[in-house]
Amino acid sequence: MARIYRDDEIDLRVLSGRTIGVIGYGNQGRAQALNLRDSGFQPWVANRDDEYRREAVRDGFTVHPIARVAEEADLLLILLPDEIQPQVYAEQIEPHLRAGDVLCFASGYNVHYGTIEPPAGVGVIMVAPRMIGSAVRDLYTKRLGFPCLVAAMEDDGPLLPIALAVARAIGGTRLGAFQSSFREEVLIDLFAEQMLWPGIIKLCLLYFEKLVESGCDPEIVATELHLSGEFVEIAKAMITHGFFGQLKLHSQTSQYGQLSRMDRMMTPELLARVDEVVDEIASGRFHAEWVAEQKAGKPKMNALWQQALEHPLAKSEAKLEALRKIAAESCGGAV
Ligand code: NDP
Repeated sequence: MARIYRDDEIDLRVLSGRTIGVIGYGNQGRAQALNLRDSGFQPWVANRDDEYRREAVRDGFTVHPIARVAEEADLLLILLPDEIQPQVYAEQIEPHLRAGDVLCFASGYNVHYGTIEPPAGVGVIMVAPRMIGSAVRDLYTKRLGFPCLVAAMEDDGPLLPIALAVARAIGGTRLGAFQSSFREEVLIDLFAEQMLWPGIIKLCLLYFEKLVESGCDPEIVATELHLSGEFVEIAKAMITHGFFGQLKLHSQTSQYGQLSRMDRMMTPELLARVDEVVDEIASGRFHAEWVAEQKAGKPKMNALWQQALEHPLAKSEAKLEALRKIAAESCGGAV
């Protein structure tokens, strides 16, 4: 069982004397900068001159160029999109690093795949919230928590206490920070992105297509599929009653249907595909493919997006705008 750290065993004083820089004021950057400030720190904020920069100014921060913050701060939270980080790091951050500086990443991606290799003497830690940025802020202000994965490259001294202090300052140890590794974070994250979510999405599309083909009304099927919000309720029940425990909330017919049919889905072909996905992530083949796709200007990604938005399900959703708004409000979201 992984070691879990909570607020009361973490000393924030390891950050005193450090100048904290937050690079990027996007999803995570804004949330983490605000949480750090409310925890008593005064982070330096960096962002390009655009809407995110204006938002940081509205939030009361003085916003500096990235290179300036890299120069001034000795604990840098790199909160840029993973695919952007290597270039910005090489051009605007690395030239300003000094021995004793610490780089803190919110994902294991670039460190694990070696696309960012800090010089000797510069520490590397990871504080990866398992939560979207807006909720990192929202849960902090409500004094609630979210899980977090922390890791440290220990070659240059005891860096884990620094990672834990950052996690605590952003609200990531109220619920618990799990001691992890850069590799583990990448596998967990990418495997969910490339197997779990596409698997669920593909099955949902199949459900929609088959029922419409069988004469059912597309808007009623879309409502049943996700717009009713039942999906969200089942996910919430999994947290409250357990992954299998929530089955008891369904009818006996549903319970028997689910339990007796689930193994049937696991064909040898599917299992082979799952192994393929894991191997692509672990070997770095997916990473190499994604780098090449970006260099080419993302032609495949653009085509895939277009294909997705042309699906009849997207058209049915568009017709149900009013229902979407009500359903989103009732489950705490917004359209
Ligand atoms: P965002 O997409 O929100 O962008 C972050 C910042 O990067 C923005 O301020 C953006 O500013 C800036 N940026 C984008 N392109 C450039 C560029 N070329 N040069 C300079 N600045 C640029 O990122 P996230 O917050 O989603 O992700 C940050 C990190 O957090 C990543 O490592 C991610 O894996 C991790 N993470 C993200 C989670 C999430 O929910 N999103 C959850 C947990 C971890 P602008 O474009 O306005 O200049």
